[in-house]
Amino acid sequence: MFYAKALQKLIDELNKLPGIGPKTAQRLALHILRINEKEARSLAQAILEVREKIRSCSVCNNLTEADPCPICQDENRLHSVLCVVEEPDDLVAFERTRQYKGLYHILGGAISPLEGVNPEDLNIDRLLERIKKGKVEEVILATNPNIEGEATALYIARLIKPLGVKVTRLAHGLPVGGDLEFADEITLSMALEGRKEM
Ligand SMILES: [Zn+2]
Repeated sequence: MFYAKALQKLIDELNKLPGIGPKTAQRLALHILRINEKEARSLAQAILEVREKIRSCSVCNNLTEADPCPICQDENRLHSVLCVVEEPDDLVAFERTRQYKGLYHILGGAISPLEGVNPEDLNIDRLLERIKKGKVEEVILATNPNIEGEATALYIARLIKPLGVKVTRLAHGLPVGGDLEFADEITLSMALEGRKEM
């Protein structure tokens, strides 16, 4: 124990956060010690507030203060299209494009036997319930383009195709601004497979 007790406690708490090692935890704790009282209270309050106010939308599983969330409640959006994503930050990425006008469904991860994540750990049952209600015409499977994401998309596609909805997968492509010669072979072969007529 080189630091005073209260300071060491703050360092220990910060060190528990993902991506924060002991060095960064020390630096952040010393920074917090130097900010004024108002800022310190505001930081502590923000942490308590997310715990109190943020919950999961009972329809799409998005993080929200109101249930259903503002996206599910928005009558101007297309309620016939569902975009299935792994995590809430994937939803935020789509919203940033301002191109997508449908609704979402957040799985809460991807199937990964190695990490002990099985289909029943994901929010798949509620997805099926939503589709069975009959308003959904298209489901876009927008899980990540990696092994777990592909396996999850295939698993869900098998379950929902018999329900009579159109099932689509995001196109896999080359990064914009990239150079063909630096693309890995999987990306390049997927881009070739997903080619479009001009
Ligand atoms: Zn929602």
